[in-house]
Amino acid sequence: VRAIRYHGGPTLRLEDIDPRPQAPGEVTVNVVACGVCGSDLHFLDGTAHPSRTPITLGHEIAGVVAVSDEATWAPGALVVVAAGVSCEQCRRCREGRFNLCEHVQMTGIDFDGGWAEQIVVPARALIPRPVDLDPAAAAVAADAGATAFNAIARRGEVKAGTGVAIIGIGGLGSFATQIAKLLGAAPIVAIDVDTEALELATALGADEVIDATAVESVGREVKLLTEGGVGVAAEFVGAAATVDAAVKSLRRGGIAIAAGIGNQPLVTIPPTLWAMSEYELRGSFGSLPGDTELVLEWLAAGDLQPPPLRRVRLDEAADTITAAAAGNGGRARLVVEPQGVP
Ligand SMILES: [Zn+2]
Ligand SMILES: [Zn+2]
Repeated sequence: VRAIRYHGGPTLRLEDIDPRPQAPGEVTVNVVACGVCGSDLHFLDGTAHPSRTPITLGHEIAGVVAVSDEATWAPGALVVVAAGVSCEQCRRCREGRFNLCEHVQMTGIDFDGGWAEQIVVPARALIPRPVDLDPAAAAVAADAGATAFNAIARRGEVKAGTGVAIIGIGGLGSFATQIAKLLGAAPIVAIDVDTEALELATALGADEVIDATAVESVGREVKLLTEGGVGVAAEFVGAAATVDAAVKSLRRGGIAIAAGIGNQPLVTIPPTLWAMSEYELRGSFGSLPGDTELVLEWLAAGDLQPPPLRRVRLDEAADTITAAAAGNGGRARLVVEPQGVP
């Protein structure tokens, strides 16, 4: 099968590889669409490393079951593939915190991912996908939408009337804005450094926007706009400054959510303020069983909008993704469509 292979370094190659034999408990899936996530680009720019090379990257996968011995997954079934596959046996899995599995296998990091015509994956990674939903939208939403849902609804416990700040309006942040709106959050304040991103946030339901380049302190600006701060401030950037801004946007008793991935140590307010305000800082990672199904239902019903998508064929994907990792990607989310005309 043809696959985009990563051998390390800043580039990718289109190769013909032998398909991995399907083991018991696995299914073979024809990939219809596979998104290009920000975390994939971090492999190419050297800030992250897959567990082995060569490997096929890509963890935002929509496809059709091709070969299956599993009773639950007949050939022809429309599916998305989970980005993380939990073991269902370890202590965290037994607590129901599957996203914190001690033996989690990450799609496109620990085993070959979806920038390929066909892949072999564990059957328990499969989630049904609605028939009337664009597979490219389903692929992207399965990862970013469910991750945003975990951050906002589960970790943030956002409810009707919760004031919410969303820092970083990329793929995750635009889903987070919409999910906060669906849950009845108000007001919703969107923060970014890019005016186009802020226009998008307004279109998706943000009540207020802040251009972080135009203010001295994001936190002070949020407090001015929200009568003293928000109940939940979620950051999707992964930088020390944005986590700090989230903390400084909170009202007393508020919760900051750190959902972005980054390496900088945090520096923020002094312990006295933490104690006296009973602030919380919570991490958020991945999602739980059921979250992806819910997000796909919302998407199929038109309650959630996918980000702008840019579709690329497999034979042009290596160059397009390499350019995106070098900063020449544009705003639209790249989606590889391997079944496109070769
Ligand atoms: Zn991702
Ligand atoms: Zn586990």
